[in-house]
Amino acid sequence: MPLPKSEWIWFDGEFIPWEAAQVHVSVHALHYGSSVFEGIRAYSTPQGPAVLGLQAHVRRLFDSCRLARINLAYTPEQFEQVILELVRRNGHTFCYIRPLVFRGSESFSLDARSCPTHATVLTVEMGRYLGADAIENGVDVMVSSWRRMATSTFAAMSKSGGNYLNSQYIAMEAKDYGFVEGIALDVNGFVSEGSGENIFVVYRGVIYTPPVASSILMGITRDFALTLAKDMGYEVREQMLPRDLMYVADEVFFTGTAAEITPIRSIDRQVIGSGSRGPVTKALQVAFFAIVNGEAPDRFGWLTHV
Ligand code: PMP
Repeated sequence: MPLPKSEWIWFDGEFIPWEAAQVHVSVHALHYGSSVFEGIRAYSTPQGPAVLGLQAHVRRLFDSCRLARINLAYTPEQFEQVILELVRRNGHTFCYIRPLVFRGSESFSLDARSCPTHATVLTVEMGRYLGADAIENGVDVMVSSWRRMATSTFAAMSKSGGNYLNSQYIAMEAKDYGFVEGIALDVNGFVSEGSGENIFVVYRGVIYTPPVASSILMGITRDFALTLAKDMGYEVREQMLPRDLMYVADEVFFTGTAAEITPIRSIDRQVIGSGSRGPVTKALQVAFFAIVNGEAPDRFGWLTHV
């Protein structure tokens, strides 16, 4: 599906038309994956569009820059203002927001700290990521033959362009086998995450999710789900999870900015729980969507109104 273009893009300090935001083929990021990015959603609320987790996403972008040793000439506060202004200018009621920071043209060296840094923000009006009925009916997924990167190879907690080749392998393999998404294990065989989602398992009333040491991206929706689950009185455990636990679980679900909270109804053609959205997943969805859609008070301060 082609990207639903917006009118304006912010690029290196200026708001310019979508078509004008071009780069040269010699940019370092294109050759070596030396970019970092974010994925953020703005939801439509009765008070107008509101960005979900703005500060957390911008902070993670700056952490990713630090890991990649990319210097950025803006403060997090300036970046937040740019994002809000772009959503306003493009007149969105809701949208997906993609900040991207990358190394430009100067050198083909692998120590490319002499390359200039470019920064841009794009917005698109994107709907449901894993399919229109995924939120209610759940998705069929497989355990990928690809593992997540070992902690001694890449910085898994960095949202950097290069890391996403691994995610692309996982996603393409899953599609080729007729699944919506793949779940990657870490190099030790413990459950890690989906190609673009964190994963949760509900087993005998306890909610489990892999820890940061299992090569996951520290998802912001993961944090929201943990906050909601604790607030609702569930016992929550962040711990290494064997693959086996998923097949005997009562419920398994994904979280992510794009995937939101999506139930998983089967893994490797094995039905999970009842084979439809479970009660814990549903309760978390209801609480989550009520807040992000502005129907319930923003008790945890997640929203920034545009
Ligand atoms: N893991 C990976 C690999 C991702 O790309 C994403 C999406 N950013 C997530 C997890 C979920 O993170 P978040 O909830 O912050 O979108």
